[in-house]
Amino acid sequence: MQKNGETYVYLCGNSLGLQPKTTEANLQQELVDWKNYGVEGHFHAKNPWMPYHEFLTEAMAKVVGAKPIEVVVMNTLTVNLHLMMVSFYSPKGKRKKILIEADAFPSDKYAAQSQIKFHGLDPKECLIELKAREGEVCLREEDILEVIDTQGDEIALILLGNTNYYTGQYFNMKTISKKGHQKGCMVGFDCAHGAGNLPLNLHDSGCDFAVWCNYKYINSGPGSLGGAFVHERHANNPDLPRFEGWWGHNKDTRFKMRDDFEPIPGVEAWQLSNPPILSMVAVWSSLKIFEEAGMNRLRQKAISLTGYMEYLVKTLGEDIINIVTPADPEQRGSQLSIQVKSADKKLFDKITEDGVIADWREPDVIRVSAVPLYNSYEDVYRFYSILKNAL
Ligand SMILES: *Cc1c(COP(=O)(O)O)cnc(C)c1O
Repeated sequence: MQKNGETYVYLCGNSLGLQPKTTEANLQQELVDWKNYGVEGHFHAKNPWMPYHEFLTEAMAKVVGAKPIEVVVMNTLTVNLHLMMVSFYSPKGKRKKILIEADAFPSDKYAAQSQIKFHGLDPKECLIELKAREGEVCLREEDILEVIDTQGDEIALILLGNTNYYTGQYFNMKTISKKGHQKGCMVGFDCAHGAGNLPLNLHDSGCDFAVWCNYKYINSGPGSLGGAFVHERHANNPDLPRFEGWWGHNKDTRFKMRDDFEPIPGVEAWQLSNPPILSMVAVWSSLKIFEEAGMNRLRQKAISLTGYMEYLVKTLGEDIINIVTPADPEQRGSQLSIQVKSADKKLFDKITEDGVIADWREPDVIRVSAVPLYNSYEDVYRFYSILKNAL
């Protein structure tokens, strides 16, 4: 997009990632195959649709740091979150609660509350909300661990957003999972803002499940398919309750339409339907770029881009600017949440007018994300100049 003859500075990859150059042609390929083959495309398309989701698995597993058996691209985020809670939230006896962040993304909270109600329980009693300390915005890891320590016996599921959508704070999943498991809780993460943003090492983290969307840092297009991770230890766990559909059934006998469900080992068993190929195309197109670039190299550039942004923005003065996101690179990804004291939406409208695409959160926070795949140091500098000018 252009503004006054100059390209907009796009710093909104945390909300909707930009389109890979290859996506359009790859989509065209599937449209042509559909036109030419009809149903035969399931087997004879250039990329046969029957096993299509499998083409994505290995690359996706690398992006989130998991084994292929632990990762699948399916559904959308909130749908996957519900499917995972069906399996990993089993309130029993005095262990009935879900631990969540007070400022969790609304959809996550609605999902958790409705799961609690689905079990005939009261969200007021069964949802524990983690709040930051008085005068602070980010949660402290020690406080999260303390709540798990003292209330863990009553917690059935720990469900945290990683990275937090509002503050950009990244939680150490390994530490939290370990503590949760010591207390007998299930542990899951919503990695909507983590996937493709920083290396998640989901397998090593030991968490039971994770879900994410692919339209933010993974650049797969508006409303595209999401991802799900179920730890290998549950790959063949017959004790887990699960909502099931034909796409989770043993591939060799799927079309025999037998009565009994025979799950595919691993997270693929959670698949319900045959997936929308046109959306899969976009996810795959993006994953090929991630494969080529590699998460570690992307992360190196991200740390440096974000550090540069932080340095510039801080020069605007602490009396005006407060960066809410943790200063420690280990505790954040690409996003900076910049609180502008005594500012209102007019400031945001002004920087938009001057050519920056960012994101505004009431009352006074601008969220920006410099994404290593397509943002440059120059973008960061232009943002800083436009913000400084607007102030
Ligand atoms: C973006 C985001 C969502 C969006 O959910 P969809 O089901 O993809 O619409 C949910 N949770 C978090 C934490 C998010 O950042």
